[in-house]
Amino acid sequence: MEHPGGRTADDIVQPFQIEGPGLRGRLVRLGPAIDTILKRHAYAPPVAALLAETLALAAALSAALKYEGIFSLQIKGDGPVPLIVADVTSDGVLRGYAEVVGELPPEPDILAAPVPRLVGAGLLAFTVDQGEHSERYQGIVELAGTSLTECVHHYFRQSEQFGAAMRLSAGRNDAGLWRAGALMLQRLPDHEPIITREERDEAWRRAVILMDSATGEELLDRNLAPTDLLFRLFHEDGVRIFRQQDLAFGCGCSRGRAARILGSLPRTEIETLFVDGRITVTCQFCNTIEAFDPNEIAALYDA
Ligand SMILES: [Zn+2]
Repeated sequence: MEHPGGRTADDIVQPFQIEGPGLRGRLVRLGPAIDTILKRHAYAPPVAALLAETLALAAALSAALKYEGIFSLQIKGDGPVPLIVADVTSDGVLRGYAEVVGELPPEPDILAAPVPRLVGAGLLAFTVDQGEHSERYQGIVELAGTSLTECVHHYFRQSEQFGAAMRLSAGRNDAGLWRAGALMLQRLPDHEPIITREERDEAWRRAVILMDSATGEELLDRNLAPTDLLFRLFHEDGVRIFRQQDLAFGCGCSRGRAARILGSLPRTEIETLFVDGRITVTCQFCNTIEAFDPNEIAALYDA
């Protein structure tokens, strides 16, 4: 058993294995990355918390896949928050946003059932975009559950691919900084030692109970090192810790990309987009605004 020490870490995926039953797991801790993403927007706290959980979920799920490109998790519905998007690149770069179109119900009502009250009835879907010449894997499931954690478990039950369990948490600490965490366990039948089916099922149930015993505070506590939390939960069966992967906020938008989008529109349409003598393009993900004056717009077409 390896124990790299009690160092704290934020913005990481910490993969691990529970040795006895041969279960794989991942702990995701998001600190500055999630705070940066959320503070670029002015979301109501329950919306921010749901987006933060969605990003932690995306980081945990994407780390279970082998891919080169962008893993994108989308939650779509008919409620006042009809869309939540979380992207994670294979290099660990995160971005995300929530679309808010309607009036939100009172906060206590939301907290009792955040997914139905905010997103409404809809779908949870993910894609892996590996560029033009490769496959797009899609997973899709109806939103069924009051919390994002419940919706994910519904997905796991529907999916052949994942025998898995998840815990998610998000919130602000005493300093007002946003944090998010995810703890995921996964059964990989090929990796489970040759014990009886009953023993394997029993080991799985026990591991899930231990995982569920982790509190939301423990998932978020920056002073509790990821390794310390994992050893505290699973030490009886032995925990093997693998190399951490770093996560960071980043957005692929640019002025050049905004210009290309405008340049692809018909010129008659673009004339209708001027407000106060300029056209602005706002990145949904990072809220960066690019403004173009009439000369710059004209140049897009003269090129
Ligand atoms: Zn952006």
